[in-house]
Amino acid sequence: MLAKQASSSCFTGPEPSVGIGVSTVISAHELCVNRIDCDISSLEAKLFLQELDRSRARFALNLPRKDLRILVGILTSHADFNRHLHSVCPLCQEEEDTTAHFIAQCSALMLLRKNILGDYILSLDTLSNIHWFLLLKFAKASKRFY
Ligand SMILES: [Zn+2]
Repeated sequence: MLAKQASSSCFTGPEPSVGIGVSTVISAHELCVNRIDCDISSLEAKLFLQELDRSRARFALNLPRKDLRILVGILTSHADFNRHLHSVCPLCQEEEDTTAHFIAQCSALMLLRKNILGDYILSLDTLSNIHWFLLLKFAKASKRFY
């Protein structure tokens, strides 16, 4: 009965074109930020996800699936980094291969970082201020993701 009612009524959510709303994304984002477990990935994720931002959520919802996968991988630090514990960055061979190293400090990406993110090296406490559009642009330009 309820399913029949639901299927015959119009969807009234904020983003009907993708089937999930901005509030759903923000709730998921909140869950991620407030995770209790403290592994390296969740600590790194807090560098990128500190406060709720509806415009960023809308930006993410409009991305092609492939780009969204890259962005979420970076934001949650579950991208293709550090597949083996304490593996070395394949680009510079100098530091541990982490999302924060990749975005903010890898010496092999200094020129690209300067061009796209505005400086050769970034402080970790500024990462949450970078718009996701620029994070994605940097990640794609690095050719690390396919
Ligand atoms: Zn590196």
